[in-house]
Order: sequence, then C-alpha cells, then structure tokens
Amino acid sequence: MIPGARLILLGRQGAGKGTQCVRISRHFVVPHISTGDILRAAVRERTELGAIAKRVMDAGGLVGDEIMVGLVKERLNRDDARTRGYILDGFPRTVGQAVALDEITASRPIDVVLDLDVPRLLVLERITARRVCRDCGTNYVADHHERSPWICEVCGGEVMQRDDDTTEAINCRLDLYEEQTSPLIEFYGRHGRLAVIDGVGSPDDVFVRLITAVDDARRPG
Ligand code: AMP
Repeated sequence: MIPGARLILLGRQGAGKGTQCVRISRHFVVPHISTGDILRAAVRERTELGAIAKRVMDAGGLVGDEIMVGLVKERLNRDDARTRGYILDGFPRTVGQAVALDEITASRPIDVVLDLDVPRLLVLERITARRVCRDCGTNYVADHHERSPWICEVCGGEVMQRDDDTTEAINCRLDLYEEQTSPLIEFYGRHGRLAVIDGVGSPDDVFVRLITAVDDARRPG
C-alpha cells in the first residue's frame, strides 16, 4: 500500500459512504473531507453559512454550487490535503461541482473516483434505521430496542436521528441524487477515472473491494 491518494467516493446517501470513507482515510493516511460534516459543524456553530445550510439540509435539498465549491477549495488548499491527498465524501454532487473540482485540482488531479453502488430500496431501509451521535458522528443502527436516552459508546454523546432523515427528506435526497449526482457516473466514466464498486455485502467485504480498486488504479503501467 502506498500512503497518500486523491480520492472521491460517490454513491447514494445511505450507501455506507461515511463509514467506508473513515476506513479509507485511515488506510491511506489521508484526511476524510465530508462536505456534510462541514455544513453540520457550521449549523452547530450557528454561523451565517450554518443558517443557510440548515434550511436546505432539513428539506433534503442541495446547498448552492458556489458556496460548496468555495468551501472545498479552501479545504483542499490546507497543508494536509496538499501533501498527503484526501478522500472526498459528499462532493461533488452536481456536474457543475465536478467541473469546478477539475479546475481546482488541475495541478494535482484526482487518482480515482469510486462509485459505491447500492440499490435505492436498500438505502431507503438503511437511512430510516440510521442513528448518529450528535457529538462525534458515530453511526448506529436502530433496532427494536429503543433506548431513551441513547448514549454513544465512543464519546458519551447523545445518539439520535438526523433532522434530515425523515422519510420525506430522504426521498427528496434520493430523487436529487438521480437527477443531479448520477450524471457524474457518466462524467467520470468518460474520463476513464471511474471504478464502480458493488456496495452490497458486509462492510469488511465492501472495504476490501474499495481499496483493491484504488490500488489497481494507482499501479504504475
Ligand atoms: P451528507 O452528510 O453528505 O449526506 O450531506 C448532508 C446534506 O448536506 C445534503 O443532503 C445536502 O443538503 C448538503 N450537502 C452536502 N454536501 C453537499 C454538496 N456537495 N452540494 C450540495 N449540498 C451538499
């Protein structure tokens, strides 16, 4: 394994991207850059961006390209990303963002774009059961034993359902994915930078498929 890489992980929300990105970031020793996490931090800090983001996120919509591109440009310019690389999670989500990202990364292009492929019905089930620690972001799966309050095993924070994980907002996000984000599969496929990974299976199996695809794409010759 060669440390460092510039990677994108695409896929429907609920496909397990977040968890896999954390593992990939540890494996290749690169920062995990999640635009959803950046926006949620802004909401918690009650910044101007946070106020805009909260409205859009709760409705299951997309924050404007201009704002998102500015945030990512600033983040990719920091030392860790410049020297080691990164795994981008949740960005790009539109062709406009992908075109802007190509400009931002012109001197250090993306190594490989991974598309984590999980059918819509399956992700709908997974997101409905998703619970998240509001402090450290650890994901949990709700079962029939409701705990109240539900305390995070990692940090002791409160585990809850995300405000944007209502059935209405989930369906809106999945429709937006088909309309706005799925064209990226063709966009990156045309440039020969895409690896489509079957995201159905145990998290360990899916992780092995992902890192194998990265290693294959980066093998010289
Ligand atoms: P995520 O944690 O990636 O599921 O993102 C949560 C929400 O943040 C999304 O449903 C969008 O409202 C917003 N968001 C995150 N990344 C982007 C992006 N690249 N473009 C537009 N909106 C985004």
